[in-house]
Amino acid sequence: MLVLVTATSEEIRGAMRVRLNETYVAALEGAGLVPLIVPPLADPATALRALASVDGLVLTGGEDIAPSHYDAEPHPLTGPPHARRDATEIALARAARERRVPTLAICRGVQLLNVALGGTLVQDIASTVPLPLDHERGAVRRERTHPIELVAGTRLAAIVDHATPSVNSIHHQAVDRVAPPLRVSARASDGTIEALESADRDWWAIGVQWHPEELVGDVQRWDRDLFQAFAGAMRRA
Ligand code: MN
Repeated sequence: MLVLVTATSEEIRGAMRVRLNETYVAALEGAGLVPLIVPPLADPATALRALASVDGLVLTGGEDIAPSHYDAEPHPLTGPPHARRDATEIALARAARERRVPTLAICRGVQLLNVALGGTLVQDIASTVPLPLDHERGAVRRERTHPIELVAGTRLAAIVDHATPSVNSIHHQAVDRVAPPLRVSARASDGTIEALESADRDWWAIGVQWHPEELVGDVQRWDRDLFQAFAGAMRRA
């Protein structure tokens, strides 16, 4: 089965280049899937043609989303936007819902999914959330640094066989107001939303604020199980 995987572009060694962390590739290939990269495109309609040829969609991590997409002014600590990437991924997320394409959204991906479907973001957790946890542990990408609490009865709780698993955490933004087609499936102890999922019974979509692709080699099987569940949803769709 083929899965469309979003990527960024940035200047590397003097030229604009498409870039994706290889841990996404390894995690998807490990789940028996064939990852196909869709870069930021000049015309989002091009990405929608690609979506018609695959079995699933992965929205990956990266830049902060331009706050104009959720009618907010930029916070001083919000990073510079990538307009083509935002437009490409918002179009993909909306089309995936319309077409019921199984979707796994990771870090920026869960924020993007929420914004695309009508939600908003916390632009900087550390300066906005009272008594925040440290969610910016990018120096230890493969360490589980804070626990989350899963919401009973959700798709995610059925996949992750633990009520309070610990996760890695490499983000300074988070979901604020949840888009109507989505529901919360996990929170951290400071209230930060750590996972969302589709409220539509016939659309498998899960978004996580942590980076499961960095944890598929972990002693705990939770993150491998998440990729396997995604592959299973693609087989059934
Ligand atoms: Mn976190």
